Amino acid sequence: MAVTIIGTVALDTIKTPSESHSRILGGSATYAGIAASIFDNISLAGIVGNDFPDSYLTFFESRGIDITGIDISEGKTFHWNGYYEKDMSQAYTVQTDLNALLEFDPDLPEKARQARVVFLANIDPVLQKKTIEQLKRTEVVILDTMNFWIENSLDALKSTLELVDILIINDQEIRMLTGKDNIIQGMSDILELGPSRLIVKKGEHGSIMFNGQDYFICPAFPLKELVDPTGAGDSFAGGFAGYLSQSKVLDEETYKQAIIAGTMISSFTVQGFSMDVLKNIDKDRILRRYKEFEKFTALPDKLVL
Ligand code: AMP
Repeated sequence: MAVTIIGTVALDTIKTPSESHSRILGGSATYAGIAASIFDNISLAGIVGNDFPDSYLTFFESRGIDITGIDISEGKTFHWNGYYEKDMSQAYTVQTDLNALLEFDPDLPEKARQARVVFLANIDPVLQKKTIEQLKRTEVVILDTMNFWIENSLDALKSTLELVDILIINDQEIRMLTGKDNIIQGMSDILELGPSRLIVKKGEHGSIMFNGQDYFICPAFPLKELVDPTGAGDSFAGGFAGYLSQSKVLDEETYKQAIIAGTMISSFTVQGFSMDVLKNIDKDRILRRYKEFEKFTALPDKLVL
């Protein structure tokens, strides 16, 4: 069992109300890969430039992550510059420098093509589609996207979605993609585009999974303080994908457990910059946090009216 993850491997410049950091390790595939590696073997695919520190590549390898799918270009690494306002509920992009990403043409190593679960993290939907076309026996293809690609590559995104099993998206992106203000209506519309399952990330309010029939509503773990929300969505999705991959059976119960695993992991991610906290998470810490979460989320057995 293994997970292949493709997406951006980035250098991020991030400003929160209390701290600024320049050119730190980030990227959709990075966060997802580190999260998923808690559960299973990961093959990471992406591209970096010659400015990408070797120590970061060594860090991936120290997690048992196969990086043969990461190309090294002569150009510069993808760079995202963003900031958060006081409530930290939304990331604002100052600049996205695609750099080496512009020359990326994914050619997955043989092992990566055999993965049971594939997570297409945030990247150009054309590249996501090229990746899907190389897969050999994948049971679950999961895709994440963002406003940048919905605005700039809508047709490519729609054509990629036809080949996807699970879409992970946020509520603002559902509105952009479907034109529906009502998220629940928009969720049904999305399933007509291809995916059979949808997960809507709602930040501090948790997430909703929809399989066309039933909803699963999962709150977020309550945190008094956020250090850096970057990577919350990607580490949620990576944790979700990794959990599925390590599970023998993929039934409704497993999907719900995978959502909870992703939720616990992303709650750790936002407690530090870059991989500062995420890199130290293990199954024990996840389980301990889950024990607390269980108390917060238990519904009463019945209503007495
Ligand atoms: P999130 O989980 O949504 O907070 O993702 C944060 C990561 O996404 C950052 O580390 C960025 O490097 C990366 N990122 C930002 N913009 C893009 C983009 N347009 N495509 C792919 N990745 C991006």
